[in-house]
Amino acid sequence: MSNIKLHDKSFRPFIEYDKIENAIDEVAVKINKDFEGCKDVPVLLCVLNGSILFTAELMKRLKFNCEIVCVKLSSYVGLKSSGEVRDIIGMTGSVKGKRVIIVEDIVDSGRTIANLTKMMEANGATETRICTMLFKPNCYKLDKKLDYVAMEIPDDFIVGFGLDYDGLGRNIKDIYVLDTNMKYYILFGPPGAGKGTQAASMAERFNLCHISTGDLLRGEMAKGSELGLKAKALIEAGELVPDEIVEGMIENKFNTVEGVNGFLLDGFPRTIAQAEALDKMLAKKGTAVTGVVSLMIPDEMIKERIKHRAAIEGRADDASDETIANRIKTYHGKTEPLIDYYKKAGAYNEIDGVGTIEEVRDRIHALMQSL
Ligand code: AMP
Repeated sequence: MSNIKLHDKSFRPFIEYDKIENAIDEVAVKINKDFEGCKDVPVLLCVLNGSILFTAELMKRLKFNCEIVCVKLSSYVGLKSSGEVRDIIGMTGSVKGKRVIIVEDIVDSGRTIANLTKMMEANGATETRICTMLFKPNCYKLDKKLDYVAMEIPDDFIVGFGLDYDGLGRNIKDIYVLDTNMKYYILFGPPGAGKGTQAASMAERFNLCHISTGDLLRGEMAKGSELGLKAKALIEAGELVPDEIVEGMIENKFNTVEGVNGFLLDGFPRTIAQAEALDKMLAKKGTAVTGVVSLMIPDEMIKERIKHRAAIEGRADDASDETIANRIKTYHGKTEPLIDYYKKAGAYNEIDGVGTIEEVRDRIHALMQSL
């Protein structure tokens, strides 16, 4: 799957059709269970236009008698929620004395469903439940828990499977996300600076794919692959593995991972040659490194932290004093020159890595928001 263009914007693949179908299957199972054997005829309220496809797919899977009523409201103008929900056309049928399942394509702030729920009550519905194909938990402002959610997504603008950008894209069977230029962050710092610890929350908060070359190499070693065998002796001696190996791993991830806003590189680049190779990879995509987040701790702390980690994770390259010393030497000799490389490129940002995990995390998140 490749990017698509709608009007002036580019969108990249986000959720494939198969995954959407599976999520609808699962949500239908829950609804069928809740309504099994019901004596009434509940109404599915299809919120036009966005939920046409979802409602149709959902209805096919429901095993109890139900009716359909449509309503048209609109809150999106272009890419941003306009803040107001406007009633454009009324309902196409009655909900009086009925149980209603509001079927939405997407719920973000919850303003639309709050309005619809009120509207159902005013029209005599006996109960209102909410079923949505997509849910943006980070944007949701209501206390009311949603009854049926097929998929949760971050706060991004998406199209496809009924959702549009200024009228286009509803017919596309997969879901795409606005390509706001992928972000490429480098998490830099000496061994033991806390990169691995901080990377997880950075990746989650900013929806990034965390690529740790060290973890990938340890994975290869654990599998006993040819690459892992090649890397083992070097890693255990505190040396670097050849540039081509790590560069290949990185490029492979860039070209295969989908559904993220960008990448967080941890442990790469580690040499000037790797930094140049990364620049070339990104130039091919018409972009560049978004920013370097450099986590700095004093030299005397490096050894202490590695020893502490050795006790917890049992990494072979954390175990011996000699290997640690060699890794620190390799860092100073081969990796530290990258500081000047990225300063020259105007991409270098330093963070004080001393403090609690939360303190350092907050410093990093504040910086990332400004990049
Ligand atoms: P890390 O988990 O980042 O400390 O990496 C552990 C070891 O994997 C390093 O000491 C190197 O031997 C190897 N390694 C990880 N990333 C790279 C890289 N970008 N270039 C060369 N070797 C690497």
